[in-house]
Amino acid sequence: MSDPLSSDAGVASIAAAVRGGEASALAVTEAALARIAAHDPAISAFLAIDGDGARAAAAQLDAGLAAGTVARESPLLGVPVALKDNVCVAGGVTTAGSRILEGWRAPYDATIVTRLRAAGAVVLGKTNLDEFGMGSSTEFSAYGITRNPWDPSRVPGGSSGGSAAAVASGMAPLAIGSDTGGSIRQPAAFCGVAGFKPSYGRVSRFGLVAYASSLDQLGPLARSVEDLALAYRAIAGHDPQDATSSGEPLALPTGSGVAGLRVGIHRDFLAALPHAATRAAIEAAIAHLVEDGARVVNLDDVDLLTREALAVYYLLASAEASSNLSRFDGMRYGPREAAEHDGLEAAYGATRAKRFGAEVKRRILLGTFALSAGYHDAYYVRAQAARRLLRAAFERAFERADVLIGAVAPEPAFPLGARTEDPLTMYLGDSLTIPPSLAGLPALALPCGMDGGLPLALQVIGRPFDDARVLDVATAIERRTGLAHRVAPPAGFGGAR
Ligand code: GLN
Repeated sequence: MSDPLSSDAGVASIAAAVRGGEASALAVTEAALARIAAHDPAISAFLAIDGDGARAAAAQLDAGLAAGTVARESPLLGVPVALKDNVCVAGGVTTAGSRILEGWRAPYDATIVTRLRAAGAVVLGKTNLDEFGMGSSTEFSAYGITRNPWDPSRVPGGSSGGSAAAVASGMAPLAIGSDTGGSIRQPAAFCGVAGFKPSYGRVSRFGLVAYASSLDQLGPLARSVEDLALAYRAIAGHDPQDATSSGEPLALPTGSGVAGLRVGIHRDFLAALPHAATRAAIEAAIAHLVEDGARVVNLDDVDLLTREALAVYYLLASAEASSNLSRFDGMRYGPREAAEHDGLEAAYGATRAKRFGAEVKRRILLGTFALSAGYHDAYYVRAQAARRLLRAAFERAFERADVLIGAVAPEPAFPLGARTEDPLTMYLGDSLTIPPSLAGLPALALPCGMDGGLPLALQVIGRPFDDARVLDVATAIERRTGLAHRVAPPAGFGGAR
């Protein structure tokens, strides 16, 4: 077992060490805080670090273990976790990366936070994100950019870029992200870590700042699939406080192999990829699965509507966002940009004009237009119909295959600034993460190689609520790639480690 205090110690080994008394929760937390202090100035993964809160929680765990009031079998015992800053922690500032929530303190804990703590996790702080989750590079945060630990001149991906960078650089063994159209998977892919978006409805959204409620899903990022599965076990399950939370029985990964598994491949996710090294790395991973007893099924005859999906997503997500974000008007949440005598309309206008960023405004305008009288049927209703067709197409594909394996993104991490002035190019990068989101499917990003110093990744997509199988298949692949527990080299960002 690796040293539980080292930067590459994972969730499983830390929990085992704390359970066995080889390390205290406090020592593990102190080690994580020391790494954040040393490395975050170069990466900027964190928006807030709660050193005092983390130390107090860890000390309480240690005392509870000594007194026998904390269960030793807790799956995340003493495991430090970083939370994307759109997840509410009672009393702490939650900004969602926006100036409109600057200084806003959440009145309650998100269900995922309650569950993580109940499983023994220690919250380290909040990570950077594109404003309200709208973006693919973490460059649209109102609080500055985050750098990719493998190459500081490149983006970490987004919108959960802070969470991915924190895990990749060894500052945290576990982070939580949210994924609406790829925001866990794409940053995980760009930063060379594993990231899991569970089936829609599997993890409670209570206490997550809503972006597009019919798509939003919380999930873990870590440096191994085993670690993802431990976190999944802690956070998945029905929550009466989230009306869209599913009551479907929860299946856990069994560690079963892939003998007899039908691995679907599809041109849009593999053969048509522009990036040759990504293609080759994914093909090698699939070849390993075949050696282990899986069978490849070509699904090219099913039109998975990946081209249409992008338009459908940006329309529906923007429509939902325009509605969800209407609550931010300077009255109930965050600062206000007008004096009392200016009147209500002026106060709304001034606050929203000044405190929303350009990308958020673009989405609100697009979404409001798509929902407006006269255009609603032409855009919103048609997009909903197309979403149903896309779901049906995946259902057809999954009649012949148990999982679909392909790329997460068309290319590895791109340079900082390369796409900020070009929204369409930025959106096009989401073309392979969005289709599973629209269909509500579980999907996992897994490192599968390196090219020119940058991580390559593949995506495992499963049937609705077949999350356990997705984790099992990823485990089988990871065993062959040997890429678990990797931390970005210090040379990547010029710091000693
Ligand atoms: N990049 C996509 C968007 O901007 C997805 C973001 C996400 O999943 N939150 O909407």
